[in-house]
Amino acid sequence: MDKQQILLISFGQFEQDLLQQIAAEVQAVFGIPVEVESGYADLSKFYDPARRQYDGNLLIQFIHSEYGADHRKTIGLFRVDLFIPILTYIIGQAIYKGNAGVVSVFRLKSELYGLKKDDDLLFDRFVKEIIHELGHTFGLTHCISPACVMRPSTYIEDVDQKEAAFCAKCRKKLGETR
Ligand SMILES: [Zn+2]
Ligand SMILES: [Zn+2]
Repeated sequence: MDKQQILLISFGQFEQDLLQQIAAEVQAVFGIPVEVESGYADLSKFYDPARRQYDGNLLIQFIHSEYGADHRKTIGLFRVDLFIPILTYIIGQAIYKGNAGVVSVFRLKSELYGLKKDDDLLFDRFVKEIIHELGHTFGLTHCISPACVMRPSTYIEDVDQKEAAFCAKCRKKLGETR
């Protein structure tokens, strides 16, 4: 099988140190090389003025067409509030068994919920959601195991309840798809 790779592309202001730490965590979980790049996009094209949010589906299409051709599993990292038409907001989204996904830190920030800013917690949450969306690109569906990273996260509490790791069942399935 081809050597698989993961690419994380940042859109917006992210500290390089932070991105490298995220890459290291993701690489440890999947056991394949993870690269980080800075992306450039005119985000105004994805902005929905009525909702004051950015269209997650269009952004995934953009990432797929711009970066998906080389078959790397590519996740766009954003700071802006993302949505898809059927939902109020999304933390992340990815194409099942595809090469593209998106995750935003916007809904992961404690400040948004009237709580104190917590960079360590934000990092943990961001890593979990990136692993989760990558899981979808590798063919994993949602899992009901309480601590599994493939458990769906609608609310921030859901993110905090799970771990940045796959349960035994998901890990086995991941091994079979790669
Ligand atoms: Zn999911
Ligand atoms: Zn699981």
